[in-house]
Amino acid sequence: MTRRVTLSFDNGPTPGITEGVLDCLDRHAIKATFFVIGQKLRVPGAVDLMRRAHAAGHWIGNHTLTHSVPFGEQPTEAFARGEIDETEALIGDCACPEKLFRPYGREGRIGSHLFSRASVSHLLDHRYRTVLWNAVPGDWRDPVGWFDTCLAQVTARDWSLVVLHDITNGCLAHLPALLDRLVDAGLRFEQDFPPDMVLTESGRIARLGDELVTGGIAGLSSPERSA
Ligand SMILES: [Zn+2]
Repeated sequence: MTRRVTLSFDNGPTPGITEGVLDCLDRHAIKATFFVIGQKLRVPGAVDLMRRAHAAGHWIGNHTLTHSVPFGEQPTEAFARGEIDETEALIGDCACPEKLFRPYGREGRIGSHLFSRASVSHLLDHRYRTVLWNAVPGDWRDPVGWFDTCLAQVTARDWSLVVLHDITNGCLAHLPALLDRLVDAGLRFEQDFPPDMVLTESGRIARLGDELVTGGIAGLSSPERSA
């Protein structure tokens, strides 16, 4: 069976870096998703980079405003609203028809710190497609070794959703070689996400469980919300 891989680039845009990532993807005609941080869009030139990515056919997703505290550790409604809404306003018309959101996990960790009940309510009410990850090679903390980690991760799964970073000291230095290897290995690139990585969509919980939400999800997927 052909293995599939979906690439996502988080924590940008970063002027001087995101351009290089876009050029690499272009060379192989690979479409990916850029999960952007709201605050970084306020840096001069960053919005232009997001627009360039959008115009090239990549998807733009919301990756919080400050990328500082996971929702589960600051479970107020005001915090969730600020982190999500302000970033979405900055993304503007580069958003997908069904807006994409990825939570901040603190080094990619998965657990109940990822969401508060208030954040899940907000994502459902505003019909976000909330997207997780299943491969974090660690480009930012392991500048050489992440390459082999990534190859091992994507060959171990039927469909990987890889998190890389378009930041200084992120994936860029080894990205051209990585893409060559993945292409040579016969992996099929997908832009869409593996179904089990989509936590909410169309105003409903798809695969979000208690293990990802501080306080659990009981009562959050009410029938009137999905109507
Ligand atoms: Zn991140």
